[in-house]
Amino acid sequence: MIETEDMEFEVAPRIITPENITDDGDIEMTLRPQTLHEYIGQDKVKENLAVYIAAAKKRSEPLDHVLLYGPPGLGKTTLSAIIAHELGVNLRVTTGPAIEKPGDLVSLLTSLSDNDVLFIDEIHRLSRAVEEILYPALEDRVIDIIIGKGPAARSIRMDLKPFTLIGATTRAGQLSAPLRDRFGVIQRLELYTTEQLTDIVRRSAMILGIPCETDGAAEIAGRARGTPRIANRLLKRVRDFADVMGNGQITRQIANIALSRLEIDPLGLDSLDRRMLDMIIKGYGGGPVGLETLASAIGEEAVTIEDVCEPFLMQLGFLGRTPRGRCATRLAYEHLGYAMPENAAGAMSGQMSLFGDNADSAGNAE
Ligand code: ADP
Repeated sequence: MIETEDMEFEVAPRIITPENITDDGDIEMTLRPQTLHEYIGQDKVKENLAVYIAAAKKRSEPLDHVLLYGPPGLGKTTLSAIIAHELGVNLRVTTGPAIEKPGDLVSLLTSLSDNDVLFIDEIHRLSRAVEEILYPALEDRVIDIIIGKGPAARSIRMDLKPFTLIGATTRAGQLSAPLRDRFGVIQRLELYTTEQLTDIVRRSAMILGIPCETDGAAEIAGRARGTPRIANRLLKRVRDFADVMGNGQITRQIANIALSRLEIDPLGLDSLDRRMLDMIIKGYGGGPVGLETLASAIGEEAVTIEDVCEPFLMQLGFLGRTPRGRCATRLAYEHLGYAMPENAAGAMSGQMSLFGDNADSAGNAE
């Protein structure tokens, strides 16, 4: 029997953030696929990497440097661990902001063994001074170290062991051209389809020993905004509801109730997405409205809107980016139950690029 009326569940502030939150740590380790075969979806990326890995192994050479980019939570860290595992080498993991000084990078690079993989997450946040150490390291496997100060300073060159750098970023556009050019393999990860996420939820449920019907998994997958990290997090939350309201089994009905309680609507929009669209429609006549203006109007950080809300809303076709700012489309009006005025910017679809080339710079003009 399912009771829904008078139970209070604690709702996390934003359960569908694709960023890693402390709550995820323990299960993320358990759920990470270990091989390319176990890694669900991203078929093109997997096929390419399988060839490059096999070729590198055949020649006993390191894999070319790899840049993975795409929104958070899509499996960039997981993929880098898989690459190291498939190559049979060690993996060192760090992040751009953690490498504060050139010396930090030098000690990382000199501690690598032959053909090891160094993974740098958020590589777009490396400082200029650190980045400059990286150029000769990537190109010629050497680093130049300055010893001493002032006129007595001299530079000595050190050879490095062969290694592979895997860089991950949510913002390929922010990477400097010289750094981007030094990656031989550049792969973009796409948002996952509901079918792929259903497989991911079923796999995770099996590993965690949660009884889960396919329909229940599909319901969770459909609301996980194309992101495995969110799918796994929703699975955990829905399990709590299944344990308390039912017999522990995740069914479509339980998933439905749980996700509505978490304020995630049938398309996966949460309250922030709805607030943002609402503001564009009601506050700015459907747009266009600049990113910064929109962010302050709803009291949210511009980067959250840009990295988290927008890729998903654009994929749904709810949001357009024009050179003058963001616009709500007819689909967004319909989803939120508003009538769209004929002169709204989003109605003139010919004038706007939903996924246009200028998308990265679009909308910053206020
Ligand atoms: P990113 O580095 O892109 O932010 P992660 O690699 O940390 O993302 O992935 C987040 C979680 O999602 C991982 O713990 C993993 O369990 C799951 N995951 C990601 N991609 C896949 C996939 N293709 N198949 C199965 N699980 C995945």
